[in-house]
Amino acid sequence: MARLIDGFGRRFHYLRLSITEVCNFRCTYCLPDGYRKEGPLSFLDPQACERVVRAFADLGVSKVRLTGGEPSVRRDLSEIIARTAAVPGVDKVCVTTNGWNLDRQVTAWRDAGLTNLNVSIDSLDREAFRRITGHDRLAAVVGGLDRALARGVPSVKVNGVLLRDTTETGFDAFADFVRERPVAVRFIELMRTGDNADYFADQHVPGSTLTAWLEARGWSRRERAFDDGPAVEFAHPDHAGRIGLIAPYAPGFCDSCNRLRVTARGQLRLCLFGELGVDLRDLLEKDEPEALRARIVSALAGKPAGHRLHEANSGDTRQLAQYGG
Ligand code: SAM
Ligand code: SF4
Repeated sequence: MARLIDGFGRRFHYLRLSITEVCNFRCTYCLPDGYRKEGPLSFLDPQACERVVRAFADLGVSKVRLTGGEPSVRRDLSEIIARTAAVPGVDKVCVTTNGWNLDRQVTAWRDAGLTNLNVSIDSLDREAFRRITGHDRLAAVVGGLDRALARGVPSVKVNGVLLRDTTETGFDAFADFVRERPVAVRFIELMRTGDNADYFADQHVPGSTLTAWLEARGWSRRERAFDDGPAVEFAHPDHAGRIGLIAPYAPGFCDSCNRLRVTARGQLRLCLFGELGVDLRDLLEKDEPEALRARIVSALAGKPAGHRLHEANSGDTRQLAQYGG
C-alpha cells in the first residue's frame, strides 16, 4: 500500500479533519465578530468523515484530530469519534475544543473512543478570558478539563495563543496551573491570517519570550516524541505538567510537517496557509476508496516546502476556523 511521503521526503501520519466551520466563541484573533454563515452549511456527515479517515488510515495515518470551527457544536460529534476510533490503523483520536460544554460532554466522548483532548485556554484570568473569547466561561472550561482528567482521558493538553495582552503574568498563572495537573500547556505563536493583520501587528510576540521566561526559571527542554510535530516542551521538577511552544515563525518549522488537513466541506488542504484545496467530496458521497486514495496520493506531489507567513502571505486562509486550525 502506498504511503504518504511528499517530494521533500516528509511522511504524513497525522490527519486534521475539520467537521464544521461554525463556532460559538468570538476569539479576538480568529472570529472577532463571531461566526458568519457563508453558503449552505453542508459539512461532511459522519459516514463521509469515516470514509476520509479510512482512506488516510489505509495510507498510513494513525492519528486523527477532529477540529473546526468548534467541533462540539455538532450533535453527532460522539458518533464521529466512535466511527474514527473504529477505523483499523487509527490509534489516536483527538479533539480540539474551546471547552464551552466540556463538562457535560467529555464522558460521552471518552466512551466513544477519544484518546487525546486539547482544550483552548488563552488566559487563566477570568476577565482576560472573557475579553479574548467573548464569553465569561473560564471556570466552566477549567471544570470541563478537570472532568476529562478525572474520567481518565489518556492525554489532556491546553492550547494557548501567545498574545502581548497576556504574556508574563499569564505565564506565572499557567505554571501554577500545571504544578499539580499532569497537563501539557502549549502556547502557539499568533499567526497572521487574511482577516487579522492589524491585530497581529499589535499582539504578536515571538516564541522566544516564552522560552526565555521558562529557562530563567529552571524549566528544561524535553526530548520530542515521534508524533509531537513541531512542539518543543519544557519540564520542571516541581511541576507535574509541562509547558510547550509551537513557533510557526521559527526557521525550519515546516521541515518537520507531518500533517494533512481535510476541511468540513471535504477539501484536502496541503498547507494551512496554502491556496485552494483539492476537492474530495464527489468521491466521499459515493463509496470509492481506491479513487479517493489515488487522489490524495497524487495531490501530495503539490505540497509546498513551507508556508510563506514570513512574507505576510497567509494564502487564502482568512481565519483558522475556516479550514480547521
Ligand atoms: N474551536 C476550537 C478551539 O478553539 O480549540 C478548534 C478550532 S481552533 C481554530 C484551533 C486552535 O487554533 C485553537 O487553539 C486556537 O486558539 C488556535 N488559533 C486560532 N487562530 C489562531 C491564530 N491566528 N494564530 C494562532 N493560533 C490560532
Ligand atoms: Fe472559535 Fe476556536 Fe476560532 Fe476561538 S479559536 S473563534 S473557539 S474556532
